[in-house]
Amino acid sequence: MKLLIFGPQGSGKGTYASRLAESFGLKKITVGDLLRAEIKKGTDLSALIKHYVERGELVPDDITIALVKKELEDVENFILDGFPRDMRQVEELDKIAKIDVVIKINAHEEILLEKISARWICSNPKCDGNYNTADIHKTIDGIEYILPPLLPKNDMMCDKCGSKLVQREDDLNKEALKRRLKIYEEQTKPVIEHYRRLGIPFVEVWMNRPVDVVVEKIVEGLKEVLKKR
Ligand code: AMP
Repeated sequence: MKLLIFGPQGSGKGTYASRLAESFGLKKITVGDLLRAEIKKGTDLSALIKHYVERGELVPDDITIALVKKELEDVENFILDGFPRDMRQVEELDKIAKIDVVIKINAHEEILLEKISARWICSNPKCDGNYNTADIHKTIDGIEYILPPLLPKNDMMCDKCGSKLVQREDDLNKEALKRRLKIYEEQTKPVIEHYRRLGIPFVEVWMNRPVDVVVEKIVEGLKEVLKKR
């Protein structure tokens, strides 16, 4: 099964992708993580990638596409998180994979800004521990958000591996954050429209409840789609 997951920064899509990968036996490919791993290598390319990521701008397509293609080689079942983000990436992906289902996570900007500024991730690059200190109870445009914090058991240490928790630099930069959300809106719109035009089934959910509940809704949606195939 080949899945794409779309959702603005802070919508929890990385966490949902991990859960779905586990449940359905898929390889999870998170492009933001691939790029951050490249930055850590300290090569000439790292400096270039860092330049874009720090500003919240899209890394040039040639770099991103090459990284993703390498990850997708000989992989039958995957969930792709953070790709494709523009039409050039769509074209390249269409050449190498036929997508079965698109998962779309919806959320209001106000909630996203609150969640992102409260996000803490594990400092161990091999661990995907992810926590959040925000406690949100709010209704916007008729959508009721009940999002309790997701805290580690020990003070700011990862439950999974015990490493220190840190905040992502680009999460703390309010300007970059707003730019990332705007870029997401502008650039993802045609991408999503493309998959709708192709008639690929969508599973669409609001990120207005804790992770387990949202994941359950996605799983139900996926099962419905698979039943109809
Ligand atoms: P994310 O972890 O999804 O918030 O992505 C962090 C940063 O990585 C983004 O702000 C971009 O600079 C870069 N990035 C992630 N996905 C892509 C992509 N598909 N194409 C280009 N740049 C990307």
